[in-house]
Amino acid sequence: MKIPLRLAKREDLRIIGVEPVAEAELCSRTLELMGEFRAFARSFSVMLETCTGCGACAKACHSYLGTDDFFNIPAARAGLLRRIFSRYFTWSGRVLGRFSGAAEFGPGTLDSWVDYFYQCNACRRCAKFCPFGIDTGEIVLAGRTILTRLGRAPAFMVNIARNELTTGNNTGILKPAIIDSCSFLEEELLEETGLEIRIPVDKPNTEILYLPSSSELFVNSDTLMGAAKLFHYLGVDWTLSSTLLEAANYGLLFDLDVMKKHNNRMRIAATAVGAEKVVMGECGHGWRAAKMYSEGANGPFPFQLTHILELVTERLPDLNLTKLPIRATLHDPCNYGRGAGLVEEPRKIMHACVEDFTEMTPNRDRNFCCGGGGGLLMDEMTEIRMELGKEKSEQIRRLLPLDYIALPCASCKAQFPLLLKHYGMGEVRTGGVLDLVGRSLVLNRQQDERTSPQDCLGG
Ligand code: SF4
Ligand code: SF4
Repeated sequence: MKIPLRLAKREDLRIIGVEPVAEAELCSRTLELMGEFRAFARSFSVMLETCTGCGACAKACHSYLGTDDFFNIPAARAGLLRRIFSRYFTWSGRVLGRFSGAAEFGPGTLDSWVDYFYQCNACRRCAKFCPFGIDTGEIVLAGRTILTRLGRAPAFMVNIARNELTTGNNTGILKPAIIDSCSFLEEELLEETGLEIRIPVDKPNTEILYLPSSSELFVNSDTLMGAAKLFHYLGVDWTLSSTLLEAANYGLLFDLDVMKKHNNRMRIAATAVGAEKVVMGECGHGWRAAKMYSEGANGPFPFQLTHILELVTERLPDLNLTKLPIRATLHDPCNYGRGAGLVEEPRKIMHACVEDFTEMTPNRDRNFCCGGGGGLLMDEMTEIRMELGKEKSEQIRRLLPLDYIALPCASCKAQFPLLLKHYGMGEVRTGGVLDLVGRSLVLNRQQDERTSPQDCLGG
């Protein structure tokens, strides 16, 4: 299926350091880039040479289940790259050609990569069901990086990467606007709790540098306010940074050089405020990019790196939490469950914060992606994203009625409300796990008097 993805203009690509490749050189440059991946990661060749075509991955993929498009079967999706690799990098492909499943690089090759690599959420669920552990999500991310280096990258991702590299956040907001938003949220906190709870920016000599998702300043502000309440309660010295106000790292999703550059901002921002600890906020792929790749590529770091949900779990015995009288479930972001092992912590927190916590089936590392991961949040992909979210919507429908769906990832927070509306599932509140911590934390007497779900979720 052809997708309506808007690609970046040449001049915008140059801003992120990419010089688009001339038409006549596309084949040779593609092969060169594939050769670089092959030399860089042995797993790249192994995964491309091992598939037996058994088909066990087909029903594991929500993208295939939602679209019913053959090339969204993980093996077929990876096959678009595999057959080119086979033709130019394997003995059987060179000698037997198409009889061995190999194919020549042709005029439609890169178009098919764009269409199918961007209908994959890079959720890695297929790897859990493949007998050889072939990780089509990883093949797709390599394929996307090759496409970017050739000059074919989504305009949406290039804009975000440009903002990340120039301002340190996805939305491109600058320090005065950051300070204004934090002051506004401090007023909200004062009104809600009667307490002067601060959200400091660039505070020097601070123990913790906290990296939220920049969207929390505007749309998911209950998540940031949850963090502010937690730090206030614990008496922790913390700050945000105006030069790195972003847990997300879009480079992981389309260009590994951009990922490395964005990760390096962490060292600079943490050093500037003298932080001993960098605490990452609720962002699935951002946590994976930081935890799995930052120390190796940019380290060693002079600070400890942890996730806010790990920190909350560690401090649970110190927190006075009241269980909210709601029925809630938890969606495991793919990059926590299958990317960076953050699985039991959110559950421990949910059990501590709500009276009726119910699990989705399947869950943890078998959970289905919501269709919003892998950087597919661009407007032009909304219709396709609804198809990619079909399996998730069925998981949710089986749990209704629900008061709350906890989504500890900014991409899931953007996707879920649209899914619930699209599939006619009525009014269910969505938000972070940290939002619930903020609502459950007993900071003053009024909170003890809340009895209805509306009261305790803030109306
Ligand atoms: S399950 Fe693994 S071996 Fe089987 S078709 Fe899928 S990728 Fe290939
Ligand atoms: S990574 Fe996820 S979306 Fe992509 S092919 Fe595998 S299961 Fe499908």
